[in-house]
Amino acid sequence: MFKKILIANRGEIALRIIRACKELGISTVAVHSEADAESLHVRFADEAICIGPAAGSESYLNPIRIIAAAEISGAEAIHPGYGFLAENADFSDMCASSGIKFIGPNAHMIRSMGNKAQAKDLMKKAGVPVVPGSEGVLDTLDEGKALVEEIGFPVMLKAVSGGGGRGMRIVNTMDEFEINFQMAQAEAQGAFGDASLYLEKYISNPRHVEIQIIADQHGNTVYLGERECSIQRRHQKLLEEAPSVVVSKDLRRKMGEIAVKGAQEVGYEGAGTIEFLLDDQGNFYFMEMNTRIQVEHPVTEMAYNRDLLKDQIRVAFGEKLDYSQKDVHLLGHAIECRINAEDWQRNFMPNPGEIVSFHIPGGPGIRVDTHAYQRYHIPPFYDSLVAKLIAFGKDREEALSRLNRALDEFIIEGIKTTIPFHKLLINRPEFIEGKFDTGFLDRINLSE
Ligand code: ADP
Ligand code: ADP
Ligand code: MG
Repeated sequence: MFKKILIANRGEIALRIIRACKELGISTVAVHSEADAESLHVRFADEAICIGPAAGSESYLNPIRIIAAAEISGAEAIHPGYGFLAENADFSDMCASSGIKFIGPNAHMIRSMGNKAQAKDLMKKAGVPVVPGSEGVLDTLDEGKALVEEIGFPVMLKAVSGGGGRGMRIVNTMDEFEINFQMAQAEAQGAFGDASLYLEKYISNPRHVEIQIIADQHGNTVYLGERECSIQRRHQKLLEEAPSVVVSKDLRRKMGEIAVKGAQEVGYEGAGTIEFLLDDQGNFYFMEMNTRIQVEHPVTEMAYNRDLLKDQIRVAFGEKLDYSQKDVHLLGHAIECRINAEDWQRNFMPNPGEIVSFHIPGGPGIRVDTHAYQRYHIPPFYDSLVAKLIAFGKDREEALSRLNRALDEFIIEGIKTTIPFHKLLINRPEFIEGKFDTGFLDRINLSE
């Protein structure tokens, strides 16, 4: 096994990786910005190296500084977490040429899947159903117009290099098409440094259902069921659960087997997620693949009693998966709330600052992944996730009752958080009945 791993990330996911490493007997190197000197990932790692000022480009997004830190500390591998450099093909390449194992796929795979238009093409060729739309990148406005004549409105223009719920525009009529095309290109260029767009049929009121897979280097790939991620605000996930109330055993097997086939056809290695849109007829369409560990991985860990981080590190080292598909059993139900430092009543405006009092819930079935503590200052420079609260129960009802009381026990004072929002959400009749889709949150008014 690896002896030393450097964690190229911060916040709760850095801590999650450190925990997995400790359990595997691997020593850890944290890197941090000047703004994160007091962060828990720095305290709990065996070694810590300050790599620069607060700005991402000077620290967590700076490949040269991170590789230098790995070389100085003698780390054999780098775990990128999610966000930052996790899906950066050049970084994966730089690790490889420095003789450091990047815990994730190789640069070629990241490039193929990171280009969302190309990823769709590859999956289509592998026999995976995809959302109808352009074949690859949309080169010109006229090409786009001709295509919508064929597939009909509404359509979605999406940035080929997009992510994080950004870089998407819904278009309803031909009159709006040209202006939206130009604005989408400009936005994509600004946000992702790549103006290329692709086009898809806009599926109305779908569910976002994604399949977790893990593949070793010996040809074994398994799926660990689905995660329901339809509770979204502006295409960003706020709450996730496993399993989905609308996915039957048969559908799970079907989606799982197709996800595994897609991953195997492209020679995928490591932990990955295949995201699908599911319509109310039970049709599902590939949307994109995330070639990394995801924010919401704990619901799968709880529902299946597996440790995805340890599995991910083991397969990166070259070990065989120590279980196969027949050993994967759904044991109950898990729900995760993303607790953000945001004022949900003011448009989810970020609300960084000092946490003056902090109490973490506990008791049966409760897990909290957080880097926060009493007197911790949430810096304004990074994303606003403060904690993930995950509740497990033998069924959805028990998970929900535990989540409800854990939200009451969770005390964070000094900053505004999304705890009150989650409390309202999970007590809405539609949520309790499982009747929601990706447009649900944007349609309702929770404060009523
Ligand atoms: P998940 O798919 O794991 O739920 P998200 O899509 O919410 O993850 O993104 C995970 C993290 O990565 C978030 O912090 C998000 O802001 C960031 N992220 C994802 N893709 C990009 C991107 N292309 N550019 C910038 N940030 C991104
Ligand atoms: P990102 O890379 O930002 O995660 P995705 O392609 O995964 O982007 O899409 C994010 C969300 O946007 C989905 O979960 C879904 O709610 C919505 N979405 C994306 N494509 C479509 C589509 N063709 N029809 C309807 N909704 C879509
Ligand atoms: Mg996505």
